[in-house]
Amino acid sequence: MSLRCDSCKFYHELDKKEEFGQCRKYAPKAHPVSQDELEENLIAVIWPVIGADEWCGEFQRKFQG
Ligand code: SF4
Repeated sequence: MSLRCDSCKFYHELDKKEEFGQCRKYAPKAHPVSQDELEENLIAVIWPVIGADEWCGEFQRKFQG
């Protein structure tokens, strides 16, 4: 059994060809967004973007019906 985000039930695919998606294990969180120093600091509320071949300790196998 290979542990891969794209086999995890929390993975939400964004791009199949480039093999990345979002981890939706938890609700989206606020993160600072880097901007030019002259710009105001921005906060974005996002899910983490991850590669399909990554994994973490929260992995749970996606149900295959
Ligand atoms: S393995 Fe971890 S990082 Fe990857 S989708 Fe699942 S919970 Fe998210």
